[in-house]
Amino acid sequence: MAIKILFGRQVFAFRVKMRWYIFILALSSYKNPITAIKGLMYLIKIRKNVKGKKVIKKLVYHEGAYYFGAYVPPWNSKLFKHFVIDKLNKFKPTNLKSNRFNNIFFAITKKCPLQCAHCFEWDELNKKEVLELDKIFEILKNLEEFGFNQLILSGGEPMTRLKWVYKILSHLKNNVNCWIFTSGYNLNRENAIKLKNEGLKGVFISLDHYEKEIHNEFRGNEKSYNWVINGVNNANQAGLLVCLSVCITKEMANKKDLMNYMSLAKKLGVAFVQFLEPKAVGHFKGKDVLLNDTQIELLEDVYQLYNTDKDYKKYPIIMYHGYHQRRIGCFNAGHTGLYINTDGNLNACPFCHSDENNGNFNIKEQINQIVERGCVEYGAIEM
Ligand code: SF4
Repeated sequence: MAIKILFGRQVFAFRVKMRWYIFILALSSYKNPITAIKGLMYLIKIRKNVKGKKVIKKLVYHEGAYYFGAYVPPWNSKLFKHFVIDKLNKFKPTNLKSNRFNNIFFAITKKCPLQCAHCFEWDELNKKEVLELDKIFEILKNLEEFGFNQLILSGGEPMTRLKWVYKILSHLKNNVNCWIFTSGYNLNRENAIKLKNEGLKGVFISLDHYEKEIHNEFRGNEKSYNWVINGVNNANQAGLLVCLSVCITKEMANKKDLMNYMSLAKKLGVAFVQFLEPKAVGHFKGKDVLLNDTQIELLEDVYQLYNTDKDYKKYPIIMYHGYHQRRIGCFNAGHTGLYINTDGNLNACPFCHSDENNGNFNIKEQINQIVERGCVEYGAIEM
C-alpha cells in the first residue's frame, strides 16, 4: 500500500488524540492528574525544543500506522508506548517498563561494492570479516537485556549479507522495528518482497545527488544511481517505508540543488528524506568538508519550509539531525542510541568512533563509558 502524507488539519486532529493518549498513560502511572498534566507539558516542551519554533505539520500514514519520522516508532504501536514511557521516566519515574534504547545501528559486514567519498567505515571496507552470525546474535542478546525499539542494519553494504539479514529478522520476530541502511544494491523486486514478508519495516537508501553522473561519481560506482532508483521502486511496491539519505556537500548546499533533490524525492514517492552533513571522518578524514554557517542556515530554512508550508504539503518529511543536535544536544552517545561497528565494538554513533570494547565485552561498562564521554561535537542531550 502506498504511503499518504498528511498535512495541516488532519495532523492537528491527530496531535490532540495523541496528547490525550499520553495524558492517560501518565495518569495510569502517576495516579495524579496534576502530575500527569505536568508530564504531558514536559513532553510537549521537549518536542518544541527538538523541532524548533515552527511545528512540523506533516505525518506519514502507512498500513494503518502514523509516523513522525523514520526513527520514532509509529503511533499507536507497542513500541510507541515504550518510547513515550522512556520520556516520561525522564520527567518523573513511572512504574511502567520501557526499552533502554530507541535506536541501535549495527554494521554487520565490512563487504561493500561501492567506494563512497564520505564513507565513515572506509578504513575497514572489504577487509576480512570479524563478525559472524553467532557473534551478531551474542551482541543482540546482550542488548536485548536493555531493550531497544529499532534496529538499523548497516555495514559495509548489508544487502551483501542477505542470508544473515533474514536470520536476524527471524530472530527479532517483529518485536523490534528493523530497517536496513543500503545503497540499493541487491534490492530487487524478489528480495524487497521477501524482506517485507520476513518483517523488515523500512529502508534508508543513499541517494547523494539528483543527477545520475554526480551521484555515481560520489559513490564510486557507475551502477549506483540505477540501484537506488530500482531499489526505491521495489521497496515501495513491496510495502516497505523508504527514507532517502543524502550527504549534503558544500557543492550541493544551495537552494536550487536542494529543491531539485526534493522534487525527485517526491516523484519517487518516498516517505522521508534525511539530510546528513559531511563529517571529516573515514574517507573524508583530513578534508575540508564541513559546511559553513550560511550553508547550515540554508539547510535549516529548507527543513522548515518543506515541513511546514502548505505549498510543499505533498513532499516527503525532511529529517535533519544537525538541526536538533544544535538545539538540544545529541540523541546518540548511549543516550537513546548506539552504533556497533563491523568489529562488534560499541561506539557513540556512526560518525564518532571510540571502540569501547578493548577486549573486555562487558556491555554495561561500555555503555557507561560512552554515556560518560557524551557527544564530543554537540554535547549530551538536555532533557
Ligand atoms: S558509505 Fe556505505 S555504501 Fe558507501 S562505501 Fe561506505 S559502506 Fe559502502
